[in-house]
Amino acid sequence: MYDGIVQSLIDEFGRLPGIGPKSAQRITFHILQTPSFDVSRLAELLTEVREKVRFCEICGNVSEQDRCAICRDPRRDATLICVVEDAKDVSAIERTREFRGLYHVLGGAISPIAGIGPDDLRVAQLMSRLADGTVQEVILATNPNLEGEATAAYLSRLLTSMQITVTRLASGLPVGGDLEYADEVTLGRAFEGRRAV
Ligand SMILES: [Zn+2]
Repeated sequence: MYDGIVQSLIDEFGRLPGIGPKSAQRITFHILQTPSFDVSRLAELLTEVREKVRFCEICGNVSEQDRCAICRDPRRDATLICVVEDAKDVSAIERTREFRGLYHVLGGAISPIAGIGPDDLRVAQLMSRLADGTVQEVILATNPNLEGEATAAYLSRLLTSMQITVTRLASGLPVGGDLEYADEVTLGRAFEGRRAV
């Protein structure tokens, strides 16, 4: 334990995901001991991110405008929609450069244990995006774990009545893991090898 605000800062960093007490302490001391570390820049960015960044009104991706850069890009293939759980998955898939369509971020996955059902996700928004017949294929890229599979199964049942090809990423992704942790090559291959469900 340290005195006063030093400990407060360590505690605050320690509340962030993926940062344990040791890392929190390391970050705090790095800031204390590095005069060149631009604290005001960091503080500014934190405030700015809070104020400016929101979620795209179409796909749910992070954006500084009403519509994200991907939805605004006319070169993207509007006949393809890739459904993901999180905005972090969008950036993981973008890194593979395999996909030139649009995204739909659900905002999570179906989990009866956590009390998350389809109504808690952006499922209705997905259905209304599909209503005008532009979209030919929906790629279900939810995580290869229990909740992700349940969500993909639910969505594929929901979409069977529509004239849309529904595909799921090929196996080869680490089972039980998150898309965001898959390496680009594996994720890229999973895209190429996607199959109809
Ligand atoms: Zn968007």
